[in-house]
Amino acid sequence: MKSSTRIVLAGSCALGLLSAPTAAWSAEQKPTATPKPTATAKPAPKPTAKPVPKPVDCTKVKCIALTFDDGPGKYADKLLATLKKHNAKATFFLEGQYVKSRPAFAKLMVAEGHDIGNHSYTHPKFTESSVEQIREELKKTQDVVKKVTGRYPTTIRPPYGLLDDDTKAVATELKMPIVLWNGGSRDWATKNEKAIYDEVLKNAKRDGVILMHDWVAQTVTVMPRLLAELKKQGYHVVAVSSLPGFTALKPAEVFPAGAAEDKDLSADSPTGDPDDFAESPADGN
Ligand SMILES: [Zn+2]
Repeated sequence: MKSSTRIVLAGSCALGLLSAPTAAWSAEQKPTATPKPTATAKPAPKPTAKPVPKPVDCTKVKCIALTFDDGPGKYADKLLATLKKHNAKATFFLEGQYVKSRPAFAKLMVAEGHDIGNHSYTHPKFTESSVEQIREELKKTQDVVKKVTGRYPTTIRPPYGLLDDDTKAVATELKMPIVLWNGGSRDWATKNEKAIYDEVLKNAKRDGVILMHDWVAQTVTVMPRLLAELKKQGYHVVAVSSLPGFTALKPAEVFPAGAAEDKDLSADSPTGDPDDFAESPADGN
C-alpha cells in the first residue's frame, strides 16, 4: 500500500515539473508593450487588496451592542441592509429551527461580519428543561448553524434570559460564555416605532447590550433613525465580541457582568405567554 501511494505522489510531481517550463516559456513570449516609467512619471500605486476597516477599539471609543433574538426573523434581510448602510455590526441570537427555514439570512449575517449566538432550537424555558434537553437544544443549533454558515456560534443566550445550574453546566461542556443584556427595547410588547426608539435611547449606555427582535417589523423600520441618533450621540454600534471584557470570558461566565443578578431585566424579554408572540417569529413561513 505504502509503495503505491509513493508512486502516485511521484507521478503528480512529475506532471508538475513537466507543466512548469511550459508556463514559463509562454510568459516570456509576451510582448513588453508597457513602457518603462521615466524619472518624471509618478510611480503607479501598488495594487492592494480592498482596504479592511480598522476594528473599533471600545476601550478608546464609546460603544454599544444591539442584539437581536429569535431569528433569523422574517425581516432580517431588511435589517442587514440597514446595518450595512450605517456600518454597524450586531449580534444575532439565532434559533436553530429558523436557521433551518431561513438559511440565506443566517449565511448573510456571518458573511457581513455580525456575531452569531445560540438561542436554542425551539425556544423552551431552560429552567423547566432537563440537562439532556438543554444539551440537545444547544447542540442541534450549533450543528445547524455550522452546516449553514460554516461557523459555530460562540455564545449562548438562553430563551427568555432564563438560566440555572443545568444551563451553566452545559455551557461549560460546550465551552461557551452566556450573553444576556443590560438594556431592553420592549419591542415585542409595544410594537411601536416611537416607543422602541425611546426605550432603546433611554437604556443606551457605553458598552451596553440591548435586547431587540428582528421578527418585530417596527424594530426593523425604526432602525435607520435609531442608528443615526446613536451615531449622533457618539456611539459605535458593534457586535458583542467587540465590547471590553468579552475576550477574557470563561465558559459559562455571564456577560455583561451583573446581568444574571439583575431581576429587572426579565421584564425586557417576552414571558413565554403565547400573547407575547401574537406575531410570532415564524409568521409568514
Ligand atoms: Zn428569545
